[in-house]
Amino acid sequence: MGNFLKTVLFISLIFTTSLVAKEKVYKLKMATTWGPTLSPLIDAANNMAAMAKALSNGRLDIRVDTANKHKSPLGVLDMVKGGQYDMGHTASYYWKGKDINTLPFTSMPFGLTAPEQYAWFYHGGGLELMQKVYAKHHVYSFPGGSTGVQMGGWFRKEIKTLDDLKGLKMRIPGFAGEIMAKLGVQVTNIAPGELFNSLETNAIDALEWVGPSMDIKMGFHKIAPYYYTGWHEPASEMQFLINRKAFDKLPKDLQEILRVSMRLAAYDMYIQNYDMNATAWQEMKKEYPNIKVKTLSKPIMDAMKKANQELIEQMTANNPLLKEVLDSQHAYLKKVREWSKMSDYLYLKDNQ
Ligand code: CA
Repeated sequence: MGNFLKTVLFISLIFTTSLVAKEKVYKLKMATTWGPTLSPLIDAANNMAAMAKALSNGRLDIRVDTANKHKSPLGVLDMVKGGQYDMGHTASYYWKGKDINTLPFTSMPFGLTAPEQYAWFYHGGGLELMQKVYAKHHVYSFPGGSTGVQMGGWFRKEIKTLDDLKGLKMRIPGFAGEIMAKLGVQVTNIAPGELFNSLETNAIDALEWVGPSMDIKMGFHKIAPYYYTGWHEPASEMQFLINRKAFDKLPKDLQEILRVSMRLAAYDMYIQNYDMNATAWQEMKKEYPNIKVKTLSKPIMDAMKKANQELIEQMTANNPLLKEVLDSQHAYLKKVREWSKMSDYLYLKDNQ
């Protein structure tokens, strides 16, 4: 065989091989905690999958299954861990019953705001701590979109003193519910579909959900006019989960495309929800001008902060890893909050 022919064959071999490699499609399945219409949460999952597909020229094909399909909204971590699904879109604090150390990666009462928390995740060591906590579950975990500050909830009556909280029946799940319980609130957990009815029939006196963007469809503003400002979920961050084996066997470029798509989809959910909140609030206010936006009084806030501190001390007493995560957040908050106050806070205060 002549040298020329050998060279041609060699080049065409390289070309064919690279062509084949380029065409290999990696198919992943992702389970979400959300139903198909739960905007903006489900949008973050769908946007991520669409971005990863477009950026990879179709080589990364992620099928998104909503909770209506897999029927296990709170089984997402187990399904990704067990390999039934490669990925999940959910929220870290849903796993606090299985592993309390997962709690701080969503939002902590009186904790970081969304920009502060993203700064902690990506520049303050938060992302590394999240992998440390999730290593024993054989998954990687990434931020999956922030709701920003959640509202404190809808109350039928105004809350003026600590006494007004005693015996108050309120739906407020998770860690915030434990704080409220310490203040004498009768905390209940009711399925989302029954919330409106429970409030309307006085089975509960108050409830918290998210913020205008998602509250408006629930209709709480029609029956409980006191809308309290937030303290308990200042930056609830959704979560992308990936089975470690599934991620590790992806080619390096697809791993990077996946990381970038998750990061961008998360940020996009934050600003989408910001826009939805602004729009929904204008609609609510127009339809029901008697909604009163209120802030809990300083004695109530102080009592809640004290209860929060006591609960954190109890939780971390024999748990060095949880202490490490919460100490990291706390130290970061101390540093970043000073900047937030002299920048955004003073700007907003002086430019009403
Ligand atoms: Ca909430």
